[in-house]
Amino acid sequence: MNRFHIWTIGCQMNKADSETLAAELQRLGYELAQRAEDADIIVLNSCAVRQSAEDKVLNKLANLKALKRKRPGVALALTGCLVNSNTDALRERFAHVDFFLKPQRFDDLLAYAKGGAVEREPIPARPGSPTAFVPIIQGCNNFCSYCIVPYRRGREKSRPMDEILCGIEKLAASGVKEVTLVGQNVDSYGHDLPGKPDLAGLLRAANGIEGVLRIRFLTSHPKDMSQKLIEAIASLDKVCEHISLPAQSGDNEILRSMRRGYTIEQYRDLIHRIRRAIPDAALSNDIIVGFPGESRDQFQKTFSLLEEERFDTVHVAAYSPRPGTIAARKLEDSVPAEEKQDRLWQVEALQERISSERNAALVGRTVEVLVEGRKSGKWQGRTRTDKLVFFASKADCLGQLVNVKIDHAGAWSLQGMPIVE
Ligand code: SAH
Ligand code: SF4
Repeated sequence: MNRFHIWTIGCQMNKADSETLAAELQRLGYELAQRAEDADIIVLNSCAVRQSAEDKVLNKLANLKALKRKRPGVALALTGCLVNSNTDALRERFAHVDFFLKPQRFDDLLAYAKGGAVEREPIPARPGSPTAFVPIIQGCNNFCSYCIVPYRRGREKSRPMDEILCGIEKLAASGVKEVTLVGQNVDSYGHDLPGKPDLAGLLRAANGIEGVLRIRFLTSHPKDMSQKLIEAIASLDKVCEHISLPAQSGDNEILRSMRRGYTIEQYRDLIHRIRRAIPDAALSNDIIVGFPGESRDQFQKTFSLLEEERFDTVHVAAYSPRPGTIAARKLEDSVPAEEKQDRLWQVEALQERISSERNAALVGRTVEVLVEGRKSGKWQGRTRTDKLVFFASKADCLGQLVNVKIDHAGAWSLQGMPIVE
């Protein structure tokens, strides 16, 4: 039996792409190996959004060198945003890698895998898992000045709505209960398709698919999120009250320099409109600290935004210049590393407090959990608002919606007891 192993880091698109590739390889008769050591095909799905992510991939690649030397027959593939157009340079640098595949361009590897493979019926990417990612739009047209994504993933290309809905129906038929519609900017879904469908319409259609219990989507862009979409989220019963809405900074001058296309006043107004329409909405945010030229005062504005608006989760990153981006070409990386680290810690400490407080408010309340698996002897799942919940039960709860009464809350997860009806 031929086996494959995929190692993935980075954003939701990478996770979705890995699921697609896994499904394709399984269709060719390959089996999933938990460890790279046991696989005949090893794929690294890489991220280049920050130097730290890139370094992790480079480490992994270096580690696999010995394995390749021991077992030259193993096929090693690198995909994701580290693969740029200059594959010759990559080939020279990583001579032990057999395939360099641009994001989603898996054809060469699949052609290789086909040799000696047995074709099977399509099977879900993660057999037994009640959740799945569904890509709805590829690439990005925004060119935020710090970001490498548009250079590596190309321009926006929406998938036809029929194709997406048909894919969701198949997932539902195979037992998937929750789908997450993914793209770098899901709010611009459909602008490039005939008849210009939009995300609100797609959500409405997906809401009608039998067997699907929950629908999520990410990432939203503050400049593109429409009132129509807010109303769709508020009115559609399966669409979860969880919105990932990166602000990146709380200061207008920095936002302009980042080329984000909104002011902080517009951003705050958007959040207030969301909260008015969807009172229980959980909001998550991405922040970059230490962007070129960010003064202490400007950082303080970001800090105040987080303090005042109290997001459920915040992903914070120190600015990392990415070669080829507008910021790396035109702006000096002027904030010293220690200062960036200090700002990062300040945001983390603030957010740990806010997340703890927000979660503590759930103690004593009953929440609906979709059970995704087991960890340390407990069942583990998520609320509609994307909060991680652990509980104990002797019943087989995998893939079930369970009502859990919360009795403990921390910054990162909740614990409780299942309510037996
Ligand atoms: N499409 C999403 C996110 C894409 S990248 C959006 O528009 O927000 C994921 C996150 O990585 C970003 O939200 C940003 O916070 C961070 N990021 C991207 N480029 C970065 C860079 N050069 N340095 C530090 N963080 C970066
Ligand atoms: Fe990058 Fe901006 Fe596109 Fe997000 S919207 S992927 S941050 S360029």
